[in-house]
Amino acid sequence: VALLYAAETQGAAVLFEFLHRQDPSIEIRVWPDCGQDSEIEFVVVSGEAPTDLRRFVNLRGMQSTWAGVNALLNSRDLPPDVPLARMVADEMSNWMAEYVVYHVLDIIRGGSDLRSSQAECIWQQRTHLASKPAIGILGLGELGQDIARKLLGLNFDVSGWVRTKRQFEGISIYSGPGELPEFLGRNSIVVCLLPLTEHTRGILNAELFARMPRGSSIIHVGRGPQLMEGDLIKALDTGQLSRAVVDVFAQEPLPEHHPFWSHPKITVTPHVAAISRAGMGAALILENYHRAIAGRELLHQVDRTSGY
Ligand code: NAP
Repeated sequence: VALLYAAETQGAAVLFEFLHRQDPSIEIRVWPDCGQDSEIEFVVVSGEAPTDLRRFVNLRGMQSTWAGVNALLNSRDLPPDVPLARMVADEMSNWMAEYVVYHVLDIIRGGSDLRSSQAECIWQQRTHLASKPAIGILGLGELGQDIARKLLGLNFDVSGWVRTKRQFEGISIYSGPGELPEFLGRNSIVVCLLPLTEHTRGILNAELFARMPRGSSIIHVGRGPQLMEGDLIKALDTGQLSRAVVDVFAQEPLPEHHPFWSHPKITVTPHVAAISRAGMGAALILENYHRAIAGRELLHQVDRTSGY
């Protein structure tokens, strides 16, 4: 039995040390030194598989070091019947929540105007908003829930949009396409934390922006192809939206001449909201390795039908 590590290698020694300390019997191989293909029973991968994983005929489980598995699922190199788990880690949730809370606060305190004023040596005071804006989170999964809890702790009115209706204390929940318009109508900051699936591709479009109160803002940290980039520029230029913070793009790295770079109402960040780090989620990787070898369901196993 061998575990093949075929994910990001910078800093991976921390993970190998952890696995070795916890279970010295695990034999770790690092891509591309696989040894005998038939000996590989568990594989750790990142965004895309570096090889056709169907060659490992005895594979029993796959662990992604990324939370979003859309690229992996779209690859034909993935054995269809081998369970795949996605990354869920406190560290990742903390980074994502920090990013979102930081940008929410920057939007409501007018950070962009303050920076422009300073650049021109203008002493321009701003009054505070009379009430805190309502914040809506598209996708209230592992990451969205943590953000919601932190925003609730700052006394924001928080709501979430999910696929399957359920209850969360202190959060108004909306579900399915039928309840999306009501959700959008009540929020003046919308955060996108949806996985990329056939239902969420292109979801941030002119129609969605038009349903938000005039002058609203969006923070997009899901996946690039969810955003219709031209629609966003139009919504900002007409004043339907007032600000956008965008971390993920249809093409990454964002091309040098892309209009987002210089748009005065857009904050661009280079897909850094919650970057995966080798060694992150080591306990989950170990647990899922044991589960896979024992033929048990993996933790945070991806539902191949729903695509997340
Ligand atoms: P998750 O736990 O799987 O949660 C996904 C949420 O989206 C769930 O609440 C799910 O609803 C909802 N959802 C999915 N499809 C939907 C649909 N068609 N309509 C309404 N709601 C839908 O995922 P996560 O760990 O929170 O991660 C979310 C995404 O964040 C990842 O897939 C990845 O793309 C992105 N991400 C970005 C970065 C970055 O650095 N920018 C880092 C990490 C992750 P249910 O609860 O009803 O299932």
